[in-house]
Amino acid sequence: MQPRRPGFPARLDGWAAPRPAAAQPAASTPQGVGLDSAAVRARMVQRLAAGGIRARAVLQAMGQVPRHQFVDSALANQAYEDTSLPIGLAQTISKPSVVARMAELLLGAECAQAAGLGRVLEIGTGCGYQAAVLAGFAREVYSIERLRALHEKARENLRPLRLHNLHLLLGDGMLGYARGAPYAAIIAAAGGDALPPAWCEQLAIGGRLVAPMAGPGGRQVLLVVDRTAQGLTQTVLESVHFVPLKSGIA
Ligand code: SAH
Repeated sequence: MQPRRPGFPARLDGWAAPRPAAAQPAASTPQGVGLDSAAVRARMVQRLAAGGIRARAVLQAMGQVPRHQFVDSALANQAYEDTSLPIGLAQTISKPSVVARMAELLLGAECAQAAGLGRVLEIGTGCGYQAAVLAGFAREVYSIERLRALHEKARENLRPLRLHNLHLLLGDGMLGYARGAPYAAIIAAAGGDALPPAWCEQLAIGGRLVAPMAGPGGRQVLLVVDRTAQGLTQTVLESVHFVPLKSGIA
């Protein structure tokens, strides 16, 4: 058991409390860690809400995580657009609407009002952005990355945020992470041909898994798996485009 840390969830407060728009400079793009990034981020959150994201916990977390600090400085001016961006080693950070959609799905039917989640497993830390968003409303987040260089990059990106409920692991996420199980939610940021059995085994009863998966005709689709006392139920949702799920560490 992790000792309960003081300060959660208050540690998210004050990273970047949104400022009134009138107090902002006219620029619409964040200037590094400039004062206007909170306003640009607030506009991203407004667009997510207008696009149908209802989960307040998700919108709030995405309003606080400085996405521009997770991408190369040359791309920082695109960080709050709804686009995926390269993070090195042929991998990408998902676009904000996809991060929000998957996070909302994790919260389930009552997502609009849900305050948060218990323990969450993320497969594919990448640059660490989505892990930081999840840490904003989950009790504990375990995030696994198979590429050492990205695992280390995520550690660096996340250090200033001091998210004590987020645990970064280098490993093959296809095996899950048994030591943190059972999970209230499992989310994969890379898509395979079939669900690794470990993910379903490590899902708590009442828990939910959201992952991209190969669907009919080679399309990749978003798959939701709910574990109930009676077994697993699967729901196939919209088409998505995620990087491939691979095994082993590199
Ligand atoms: N959530 C990330 C998105 C990263 S892209 C972010 O916010 O940046 C998906 C990541 O999954 C890549 O970094 C890739 O290396 C990783 N990945 C693919 N297969 C994996 C596996 N078996 N275990 C752990 N990570 C894996």
